[in-house]
Amino acid sequence: MNCPFCDLDKEKTRMLEEKKHVFTVLSNPRLMPGHTLVIPKRHVERLSDLSKDERGELFDTAIEYQNKILEKVASGCDINQHHRPFLSQSKLKVNHLHIHLRPREFKDTLYETSQKFEVFEDLTREEGGKFVEILSH
Ligand SMILES: [Zn+2]
Repeated sequence: MNCPFCDLDKEKTRMLEEKKHVFTVLSNPRLMPGHTLVIPKRHVERLSDLSKDERGELFDTAIEYQNKILEKVASGCDINQHHRPFLSQSKLKVNHLHIHLRPREFKDTLYETSQKFEVFEDLTREEGGKFVEILSH
């Protein structure tokens, strides 16, 4: 198996910090300047696969870097984590778990080119009931 995060290319990827359980790097490719990734060293694909120590360091580091981004880079910062086994691994999709930190501003490029087209709908009584039944048991 070829995993770009297990075998981090230090020429391509700018390392910000290495801790006991996690790396923090600049995303390459990136969605916007300052797009940062926090990556557990151990290859896992779901948050539930992490030990309590790994989970703690991962989230503490994400919070620490979100604070740095908010102080030094942008007025907003999204935190995202995706689990999309229906997509095969590619340059833009790595199975190895990682958290994205994305500096955001009002009506930034990501908003203008993509997110302004997202469609939110009101939750119907029927759909609400269905998902309460599925997820609360
Ligand atoms: Zn990996």
